[in-house]
Amino acid sequence: MDEIFEDEHLAFGESVKQFIDRHIAPNFDDWEKNKIVDRSLFLEAGKAGFIGVDVDESYGGGGVGDFRYNALLNLEVSRSGFTGAALALALQNDVVLPYFSDLTNDEQKQRWLPKIVTGEYVIAIAMTEPNTGSDLAGIRTSATLEGDHYLINGSKTFISNGQNADLVVVAVRTSPDPHRGLSLIVVERGMPGFNRGRNLDKIGLASQDTSELFFENCRVPRENLLGEENQGFYYLVKNLPQERLSLAIGALGAAEGAFGWTVEYVKERKAFGVPIGSFQNSRFQIAELSTELDVAGSFVASCLNAHLQGRLDAIRAAKVKLHTTEMQLRVVDRCLQLHGGYGYMREYPIARAYIDARIQTIYGGTSEIMKEIIGRSYGL
Ligand SMILES: Cc1cc2nc3c(=O)[nH]c(=O)nc-3n(C[C@H](O)[C@H](O)[C@H](O)COP(=O)(O)OP(=O)(O)OC[C@H]3O[C@@H](n4cnc5c(N)ncnc54)[C@H](O)[C@@H]3O)c2cc1C
Repeated sequence: MDEIFEDEHLAFGESVKQFIDRHIAPNFDDWEKNKIVDRSLFLEAGKAGFIGVDVDESYGGGGVGDFRYNALLNLEVSRSGFTGAALALALQNDVVLPYFSDLTNDEQKQRWLPKIVTGEYVIAIAMTEPNTGSDLAGIRTSATLEGDHYLINGSKTFISNGQNADLVVVAVRTSPDPHRGLSLIVVERGMPGFNRGRNLDKIGLASQDTSELFFENCRVPRENLLGEENQGFYYLVKNLPQERLSLAIGALGAAEGAFGWTVEYVKERKAFGVPIGSFQNSRFQIAELSTELDVAGSFVASCLNAHLQGRLDAIRAAKVKLHTTEMQLRVVDRCLQLHGGYGYMREYPIARAYIDARIQTIYGGTSEIMKEIIGRSYGL
């Protein structure tokens, strides 16, 4: 994986590590207890120039269209084991920001981008509903135009950054056609008829706020429509390769982090008078895991390379998401086993890595949906 980065990226990676030490590590336990990352995470990331590296300088961005910077931010925070923070930033940068930079007109750009880049606006995307997740065509939340406002009715669930979000890109139905009837509308904090439900009680990713959102005759000005009406499904599909690549990078980073702690642990922990790493089984496990990580790293690097050239298609993106997230589950499970009973204790980072990993094969499209996409590409 490292071969894809040049000196300037590696220097950026070093500044990410300092950022983690200064702004994430000292606060992370509190964020986990509070079940939400503090907004200071976004503000400090904004100050450090980590948000919107690819956004035009006239809107406060870095003006450098190079996804390797996004990748390194995600990779390093994921490697550190602070998964909730990694996800919060990856959503802001890799998953939701493209809707604001690619689908907006000048007026919308000026209204939203500068504060997204500084971290003053936290952003989220709301597709999933209580009765539809994998099947986007089943979205029922509706938006009807009344004069110069849309009236939105319906609800969303499982929305990441849902409590913190100031701007939510909401996928709504504007006409009955399953695919050609979806639109994307930005709902802003405080708009009448927009309410948040509780911060959902998850088994892992404790510091990530995941929420229900409710829209009851929510009045949103027409100027908050992104792009064209009824093109929402195609916009979502267009952005999915970058979202899935970002998840793959996070999966790789998290698995690498878990592997690193495990190598240290098996060198130190003794059983039968010798370090457990000296048992042939431990050496073989480490050898296999290291090989798994290298293979996954090469695949991620080749997909990242394809993405840099604008060639990452939906099928390859599905493959890299499928492979890396399933790999992460295998790796963290075996790393935990090598920690013995201590691996089951929350004070050891491998315990958190284990529970945080479980969601990875579900959100951003389940492994089964990834297989559907790949399988269908063979005309099956
Ligand atoms: C922590 C967390 C954060 C999330 N963040 C967001 C977010 O920010 N924004 C957002 O919009 N959504 C978000 N989601 C929702 C997530 O993307 C969905 O949960 C996911 O897409 C699966 O949808 P579902 O839960 O409705 O499961 P379902 O679609 O009901 O699937 C249930 C099971 O059936 C399988 N299945 C479904 N269809 C098929 C098929 N055709 N073939 C074979 N198997 C199938 C699935 O693979 C799965 O195993 C989040 C979810 C969680 C838990």
